[in-house]
Formats: sequence, structure tokens, C-alpha cells
Amino acid sequence: MASIAAPVTHSPLRLTADSAALAANWRWLARASGSAACGAAVKANAYGLGAVEAAKRLYEAGCRDFFVATWAEAEEVLPAIGDASLSVLHGFASEDLQRAVASSARPVLNTVRQVQAWREAGQGRPCDVMIDTGINRLGLSATDVAGGLLDGLAIDTLMSHLACADEDHPLNGRQLAAFRDAAGRVGAKRLSLANSAGICLGADYAFDLTRPGLALYGGVPRGEAAGHIAQVARIEAQVVQRRRIGAGDSVGYNATFIAERPMELAILNIGYADGYLRGFSNSGSASIGGAQAPVVGRVSMDLTAIAVDAAPEAGEGDWIALDFDLPDAARQSGLSQYELLTVLGRRYQRRWT
Ligand SMILES: *Cc1c(COP(=O)(O)O)cnc(C)c1O
Repeated sequence: MASIAAPVTHSPLRLTADSAALAANWRWLARASGSAACGAAVKANAYGLGAVEAAKRLYEAGCRDFFVATWAEAEEVLPAIGDASLSVLHGFASEDLQRAVASSARPVLNTVRQVQAWREAGQGRPCDVMIDTGINRLGLSATDVAGGLLDGLAIDTLMSHLACADEDHPLNGRQLAAFRDAAGRVGAKRLSLANSAGICLGADYAFDLTRPGLALYGGVPRGEAAGHIAQVARIEAQVVQRRRIGAGDSVGYNATFIAERPMELAILNIGYADGYLRGFSNSGSASIGGAQAPVVGRVSMDLTAIAVDAAPEAGEGDWIALDFDLPDAARQSGLSQYELLTVLGRRYQRRWT
């Protein structure tokens, strides 16, 4: 087990990312993308797992197209991806223009101003373009594009982003039709529409390049991916104290759990400051050997109690794995699979197997 960026002092909680699972998820997504190339969204520090480490492993798996949100992220990732292509999804603020022109990463132009600025300052360098086909978040409208706004630009990838691909929603088909229409009017080397969930919608949505993020990191965006996507992130915390409580005793802030019988508890060194948010109060769980250990009471800032009657051996200093399969943890906590990963805090010792 290779440990990267080991902290000088001991950390009582750790986040272990599984390199083989990451690569296997990318390969499944690449197969599901058919003849389209399969890229990888490594924005937001690869959804919290570590952008450089994730990008290196994805490159080794064969990925040659990466996506980040900002230029700070681009500068971090570029050295890890050799000759691969990197797109910066937010385009650029005027403060970023010079570094964008000097960079081997491409800006994704989203606004009329970005297009004009790139035309003036971009020295004919390649760019990507985002068309908004209905999410109403980022991108040029069909009307923006109709007047020849993009003529003469060296567009590598023309892209759009799906709003509801994780559901069977009529907007999916409407966005597909609008994207095809835009693709017929704008000259670009490649077309790209699908995120993780969009890949599951089938070949019509794949075009030349797909852009999965969540499913690389163990998220299951739609039923089609269930059973094919492996868990990547595992979180473990050490037991700080074991204690016995009696019938009628309460646990934690605001006494939201009251024991009906004598119980054994283990108090874990993890809390909402670590991204194990309060939604797991009285609903999360840990696994110890084969035994389930439910979270009891409220998750507090740095500590969480679990019931360990079924694990008589678990004691101070033992490492306990919280259940963190993303679809299950999303149901337990009420958080989205995206939030579960991206809120994990800074106190973990992060390592890759
Ligand atoms: C984040 C993002 C993706 C990846 O989406 P997932 O749902 O995580 O697969 C793809 N494209 C764009 C434009 C994004 O912002």
C-alpha cells in the first residue's frame, strides 16, 4: 500500500482511494461510450480525492481528455497528464486571459465576451465552446451563435451539458436535438455532450467525446451503471473511546437517541467538520468485520457514536470503516453522491492503494 503525502503527525482518520477501482470505472465508461473517446472531469480536486493523483492514474488507464473548472486547477493537473488534452470549463475571467493564452490547456468559451476576448488575444490558438441547450447555466445560446460569432475560431470541441441525464426526463431529448442542431451550424473538430449519467443514456448521446466525473469516483448516476461501477473512496476513523450506557441514557447533542436497553458504544474520531455531515445522525453506519454498527445520536463536529454491541472486540485505537458506498450513503444522509465526496475535509490522511 503506497502512502502519498503522509502527514508528519498521526491523523486519526483516513481516506483511501482505490486506484484499480478508478481505472476499472474509467474502462467501463469508455466501453459504454462506444466509439467516442472517454475523458475525465477532474475538477474540484477530482471530486475531493486528489486531482493530480487521480489524473495520473486515469492517464495510465488510457484517458487523454481531462476537464477542470479553473486555471488554478489546470496548472495543478497539467504536469500530471503528459500530452493529453485539458479543457477549462469556465473559460476565463479577464484576469486569467494571459495565462490562458500561454497555456497548453484550452478554455471552454461560454460567453460572447469570452469569444471576443479570445478572438483578439488568443493568437488563433485552439479553444472549446460550450453551447447552452437548456440547463441555463453556462454557455452561448443558439441566438448568440447564429450571427457568425464563432466564425474563424479554431474550435477543438463543441460541447453542451445535460441538466437531467440522471432521470428519464423530456429535457434530455430536447437538449439532444438542440445540440445536433448547433453542431450542424458550428464547425468543430469534436462534439461532446454526455457526463456520467449521459453515457448511460446510450450511443445517441456519446458523439465524439464523453466527460464523466462522478461515476469515475464510484458514483452510480443511473440504474444502467449499477453493478458496473466500483466504490473508489473508503473512509476510516479511529475509536477514541468505548463506553457502556444503560437503558434510558441518551447519546450526543440534544439527546436525539435514547437507549432502550444497555448498549456498547464506540466514539469515532470523525464528524461534520470532516464532511461526515449531520444527515448521518441516527442513520449512517459502519462495518466491523461482518457486523453492522449503526450511528447513534447526532454527528457532532469531530466525533460520531456508533453502537458496537455486535463487535465486542472493537476498542480504543481501532480503525473503523464507515459505510461509504455512494448510493447507500446518499440514501442514509440525504446528500447527493456528488456532495458526499466533495465535502470530505482536510483532516484525512489521503492515500491511494
Ligand atoms: C462536472 C461536469 C461534468 C462531469 O459530470 P458528472 O455528472 O460528474 O459525470 C461534465 N461536463 C461538465 C460541463 C461538467 O461541469
